Amino acid sequence: MKKKVVIANWKMNYDFHETTSFIRNLLKFVFEKKINHNKEIIVAPSFPFLHISNQILQGTTLNIAAQNIHQKDRGSYTGEVSASMLKSIGIQKVILGHSERRKFFLEKNNILLEKIKIALKYGLNIIFCVGESLNERYNNQQFKIVKDQLEETVFHCSSEDIKSFYIAYEPIWAIGTGKTATFEQAQTMHEFIRSLFLEKYGEKISNNISILYGGSINDLNAKDLFYQKDIDGGLVGNSSLKLEKFLDIVQS
Ligand code: PEP
Repeated sequence: MKKKVVIANWKMNYDFHETTSFIRNLLKFVFEKKINHNKEIIVAPSFPFLHISNQILQGTTLNIAAQNIHQKDRGSYTGEVSASMLKSIGIQKVILGHSERRKFFLEKNNILLEKIKIALKYGLNIIFCVGESLNERYNNQQFKIVKDQLEETVFHCSSEDIKSFYIAYEPIWAIGTGKTATFEQAQTMHEFIRSLFLEKYGEKISNNISILYGGSINDLNAKDLFYQKDIDGGLVGNSSLKLEKFLDIVQS
């Protein structure tokens, strides 16, 4: 059976001490409770702490993801971090297409496709985010928006490369707002996304790809969401910043 995946996206929040002590405590708890047998747990700290975080988790089943990469291999891009740099410190995963990157850093689908290509070149797994705005949902455009986002990015990849992906459905109106999609709304969209993978890549890939929900997941709603047939876990922002809450979500 496919393991549920739970990812903590810490965004620009934790410093060195907060990051390392959280990860050590998480590790201790996960192994005491043997949660790792039925959940894949991934933590996405900020760039400066990726290396130490990865070292702490070396030899365990917990994993680290970066929150971004630049689309170029190397060069004069002051302040940026490349896929090869991450690879050189043993990072295996990266989040791409997060709505905050799309909104504040103007990352359009064409840029995201370049990022996907460079991530794949360096063998990184990609947690790729899609999702519609509130306005788009009001206008019943959510399916078209998500389909376009996938067609312009992920669907350029071969069947072989698709094995490197997790998809995160994150309705923008639910991110950091406390407003979660109902489990029916989330399940309907996840089923739709899976059907797009079925059409494009066939049954095996559509069954195997992990489609995660993200958007105000908390310790109270995680269980209902994760129980849905096509929801393979969650990408968690705010609620991943408190250890007890995150542990409750991980155990949901
Ligand atoms: C996110 O930013 O990916 C996210 C899901 O945030 P939150 O859980 O805070 O809505």
